[in-house]
Amino acid sequence: MLDELCINISNRLNTGILILDNNYNIIMWNRFLQVHANKEDNHVEGKSVFTVFPELPRRWLERKLSSVVQLKTQSFCGWEQRHHLFELSHSRPITTDSHFMAQNCTFLPVEVEGDVERICILIEDVTDVCHYQTQLNKALEELAISNRIDGLTQAFNRKHWEECLAKEFSRARRYQHDLALVMLDLDHFKLLNDTFGHQGGDMVLIETAKTIDKLLRMGDLFGRYGGEEFAVILPNTDLEGAEEVAERIRQAIAKSAINHQDRRISVTASIGVAVIDSDDSRYEDLISNADTALYQAKATGRNRVCLAKEAVEI
Ligand code: GH3
Ligand code: MG
Ligand code: MG
Repeated sequence: MLDELCINISNRLNTGILILDNNYNIIMWNRFLQVHANKEDNHVEGKSVFTVFPELPRRWLERKLSSVVQLKTQSFCGWEQRHHLFELSHSRPITTDSHFMAQNCTFLPVEVEGDVERICILIEDVTDVCHYQTQLNKALEELAISNRIDGLTQAFNRKHWEECLAKEFSRARRYQHDLALVMLDLDHFKLLNDTFGHQGGDMVLIETAKTIDKLLRMGDLFGRYGGEEFAVILPNTDLEGAEEVAERIRQAIAKSAINHQDRRISVTASIGVAVIDSDDSRYEDLISNADTALYQAKATGRNRVCLAKEAVEI
């Protein structure tokens, strides 16, 4: 009577129940599993769980079940660890990345007179939790990226770039490494906007950013500092090395021309370069030294690279 009642209730549950003996043969499974396993032959009692569900990671699960029996303690495997153990169909009205039901599985020892004679596996359908968590993670990742990236040029935005500079600066200071800063400002950009329109100007900004980005090494940090101003942090680079990079950037920008509405737009850049040289300097000094060098490049004719004369010192 009680047995019948238990079977009746277990068949109404929205959770899979699988009971195994010590040799991992199936003693009983409930309706939830019968429906979701889609097996042609539903007579599984007495068969090994590994025969009925050949997809199970056998060695891993045997180890898990044997520790449940020996330690007489329950164990758990969540969907974040393994998306699913059993290949079961899910019935959620949502599109998910996986064809199979995401599962939280609990392994319970069932003791009879002190000995573990049965193992009960509870299989909970967490497809919707998994789906929404995955969506949330993707959205958070996109948000984190858009917080760092300038929408027009795809370079780092000013805030993130400056955070990078602060970090690189203190790292260089701590380990006595070189650190160089290249700041550049496009020449006569107001005139370019007036001549080709704001959209033409935007195109130039996008293409210039691509041109610069292609010339950089991994580890260099490239940002949009302001409207038509860009900046590159060059870790482990001395003044000579940074000058070379700056000169390469200058030439590449001057050489490239952008097609916009059947017209060709060219632009040049003035560039200032500075390096740190003192344990006590602040990263803001590096910016202002590179900026001064940039101003000098503007004042002495534009389309050129100028080096900060003095290293940053306090
Ligand atoms: P200089 O050679 O002295 O640098 O001259 P300039 O005209 O480039 O100097 P200025 O800094 O006075 O002008 C920068 C111009 O860049 C002004 C602004 O309208 C334009 N600008 C800033 N941001 C954007 C943008 O996102 N898109 C476009 N198209 N123009 C921008
Ligand atoms: Mg400017
Ligand atoms: Mg300018």
